[in-house]
Amino acid sequence: MLRDAVRSLAEAKIAPYAAAVDEEARFPQEALDALVANDLHAVHVPEEYGGAGADALATVIVIEEVARVCASSSLIPAVNKLGSLPVILAGSEELKKKYLGPLAKGDAMFSYCLSEPEAGSDAAGMKTRAVRDGDHWVLNGVKRWITNAGVSEYYTVMAVTDPEKRSKGISAFVVEKSDPGVSFGAPEKKLGIKGSPTREVYLDNVRIPADRMIGEEGTGFATAMRTLDHTRITIAAQALGIAQGALDYAKNYVRERKQFGKPIADFQGIQFMLADMAMKIEAARQLTYAAAAKSERNDPDLTFHGAAAKCFASDVAMEVTTDAVQLLGGYGYTRDYPVERMMRDAKITQIYEGTNQVQRIVMARNLP
Ligand SMILES: Cc1cc2nc3c(=O)[nH]c(=O)nc-3n(C[C@H](O)[C@H](O)[C@H](O)COP(=O)(O)OP(=O)(O)OC[C@H]3O[C@@H](n4cnc5c(N)ncnc54)[C@H](O)[C@@H]3O)c2cc1C
Repeated sequence: MLRDAVRSLAEAKIAPYAAAVDEEARFPQEALDALVANDLHAVHVPEEYGGAGADALATVIVIEEVARVCASSSLIPAVNKLGSLPVILAGSEELKKKYLGPLAKGDAMFSYCLSEPEAGSDAAGMKTRAVRDGDHWVLNGVKRWITNAGVSEYYTVMAVTDPEKRSKGISAFVVEKSDPGVSFGAPEKKLGIKGSPTREVYLDNVRIPADRMIGEEGTGFATAMRTLDHTRITIAAQALGIAQGALDYAKNYVRERKQFGKPIADFQGIQFMLADMAMKIEAARQLTYAAAAKSERNDPDLTFHGAAAKCFASDVAMEVTTDAVQLLGGYGYTRDYPVERMMRDAKITQIYEGTNQVQRIVMARNLP
């Protein structure tokens, strides 16, 4: 029922704008409005904080169905979870009440600020500093590649509180867009997910009350990594949705397109490509849903399964969208058809929330 409801909404209210959002590289406001109106913008927020209380699998299905028509728009529910999960996992009751309510209502979005210009895969090498000053912390630094920066009201920011301790000297904070000293860089000009703003976040003597720290001092990096264990599954869902959208489009196209006097779908070479695409997507879906169940139960082997789902599903998305372009021939290579956008959008799923090389490092360290 949830899938049917999200699919109808996505096809009616999000799909019609997907090409324009990509072409104009603009924020998908129509998608945000439609998701908020239907309470689908941050479904993971627990009911006690005013949210829909969706479990990890339901959240994955929402993201998958939105990504099937517009990958940029699927980053609204996905990054709202990514940004706010540190608060849900480790925040005080006061922080949860203060920040999850507006998120659940659709009054505010949440971003996640881990990466920096010189600290990507090696996130623990970050330079952003937080220094205690009485009842406050003062933050200085630059966060890079921040999804939905500028649009979001709230930012979970990881910063060094004790440079001697490397990852154990990192703490997490909630920073608000309106805090004096917060500003943003120009939107990045990207290959895909062009509707999702990616900007630098500048922290220039940002002075925030001490109770904005998420969890204990020195636990920020562990919280950031635990968050990714759960949210990599949402990136797997995004990849899965993009791949399914490309397969659905190509499947219909090959039935219509005629060469050598018959629909190209009649050629076995084409049928075998479609069969492989569908097989890979189904394998990615099973891995993703199983990982979502592990996320919901907080199973001890979640780290391996979250990384495996993200890595596998994103590689499938890249292969399937590339094959979808192939199935449309020259037409597939143009912006007149959506598979070209889907192929560009798929690429990011192999890169963010840890590249697929990093996922393999994570899996190797946590072999079942
Ligand atoms: C569109 C977009 C949105 C993003 N959104 C966010 C966000 O909201 N919040 C956030 O915090 N970050 C975000 N990121 C950052 C993203 O997570 C990083 O780009 C990613 O982790 C890789 O870091 P890097 O770009 O510095 O690459 P690098 O770490 O410099 O990696 C370069 C290459 O080296 C490889 N490599 C690095 N180390 C190893 C190793 N040990 N073994 C093998 N290979 C290795 C990598 O896999 C990659 O192929 C976003 C990025 C993009 C592009």
